[in-house]
Amino acid sequence: MQLYNVIDGERKAPIGGEYIQNINPANNEIISMIPRSGAADVEEAVNAASEAFRGEWSHFSATQRADLLDAIADRIEDRLEEFALAESRDNGKPVRLAKIVDIPRAIANFRFFAGAVRHDQTGCHMMADALNYTLRKPLGVVSLITPWNLPLYLLSWKTAPALAMGNTIVAKPSEMTPTTATLLAEVFNEVGAPKGIFNVIHGLGAEAGAPMCSHPKVKAVSFTGGTTTGRIVAASAAPQFKKLSLELGGKNSSIVFADCDFEATVAGVTRAAFLNQGQICLCGSRILVERSLYTKFVNALVEKASAMKVGDPLAEDTDLGALISLEHREKVEGYIQSAIADGGTILAGGKHPSLPGAYKDGAWLQPTVIADIAPTCKASMEEIFGPVAVIHPFDTEEEALAIANSVEYGLAGSVWTSDIKRGHRVAAAMETGMVWVNTWLHRDLRVPFGGVKNSGVGREGGVNSLAFFSDSQNICVHLQ
Ligand code: NAD
Repeated sequence: MQLYNVIDGERKAPIGGEYIQNINPANNEIISMIPRSGAADVEEAVNAASEAFRGEWSHFSATQRADLLDAIADRIEDRLEEFALAESRDNGKPVRLAKIVDIPRAIANFRFFAGAVRHDQTGCHMMADALNYTLRKPLGVVSLITPWNLPLYLLSWKTAPALAMGNTIVAKPSEMTPTTATLLAEVFNEVGAPKGIFNVIHGLGAEAGAPMCSHPKVKAVSFTGGTTTGRIVAASAAPQFKKLSLELGGKNSSIVFADCDFEATVAGVTRAAFLNQGQICLCGSRILVERSLYTKFVNALVEKASAMKVGDPLAEDTDLGALISLEHREKVEGYIQSAIADGGTILAGGKHPSLPGAYKDGAWLQPTVIADIAPTCKASMEEIFGPVAVIHPFDTEEEALAIANSVEYGLAGSVWTSDIKRGHRVAAAMETGMVWVNTWLHRDLRVPFGGVKNSGVGREGGVNSLAFFSDSQNICVHLQ
């Protein structure tokens, strides 16, 4: 199968004629060849988006835009199985997870922002002699660049508010998970969306993503990915004063106090460590446990992690699928080795499970729990982005907070306690954009989403996304 770019609603081959392989990390089969696009392809896509911005789309009312988002949601829902299978094959994740999380969430994103723009309000500020009212204007062409861990979920999280506010889009999915973005472009055609409002460019970051950030006609860049890439994106977009949203990496702590609801906490902390093979920016990969509970908690965590089923992404009872690639697994295993070199003990996992037949050489890794390293060690400080959790004991609330706040990241964290006052206090003292108390990945699409420190700049979600994808213009009318 050969994938294509989608520009102005049409399938386009890359101008340079080159393709790259898209590999299923569960069996190393080539799923498709994808365009290796470059600046010339981006130029075409930006021009198409620019034309579309001035065309019939500019006359769509907020209600019409909301109706279009709802129609897109409905059509993805009709094709849910197909989308879920594509996501699982590209990414290696269990298809069950794609069916209950990734694709339903993408549908919810479109429906949510349809509702948000239908009910959006702008400001009105009265003076004794004048009336101020604020318009929200679309920006124009926006670039959306997304990673491989939650491909459609994250692309839709940007696409829906960008369209809700009347912008047009050039999107680049990760070269490792290109399929669902292409299916989404098909959906736009199926529901009769105006041509050119959603263009998809495939390719490598440095070749296809970079010109999407530097192109002078692009008014905003919304990027989700690694912190190192985020720096490059910022350096390229900032001198042109483009609006910039950066959702970057994380190294998130789950802080467990001895008074927690034990069973619920073990289940919640295990899920936070290993969901999606630990490849979620919000994963709680650093587990801090009050010393009096430490041994009991470690034993329960190890038992739960060891019981997780790693394997066939198509089987309904699979807990963990393959990692995104063999190269990525090597990087993740490098952290396990560094932890061992730092004196760590592997309490669970650490090995490749052996799988039969076609899955023999997939990018599998058992859920891994590491203890006995200092919180300052590399495996505890850096983002691993795989099914590897480190666990540390602590004696006081202050110590737990000092460990949690010692990383360069500040995305998320969780606190597990029955003392609700302590829950509030510790949550507020965490240097992160988001904290969950006695839960994790409990999402309300209205709330601000994003990080501090090296985890990014800006917030997505609800009115934050609507504000990012628009410019406010205040109009002051003298009344006397
Ligand atoms: P990545 O930074 O390698 O790639 C992300 C996207 O950027 C891809 O589409 C890639 O092709 C593109 N890209 C790469 N170089 C580029 C360049 N020079 N210019 C423009 N675009 C470029 O990240 P990844 O490996 O795909 O994803 C994993 C990372 O994403 C992890 O660090 C994870 O924490 C982070 N992430 C963050 C969030 C969040 O909301 N904060 C969510 C998911 C993932």
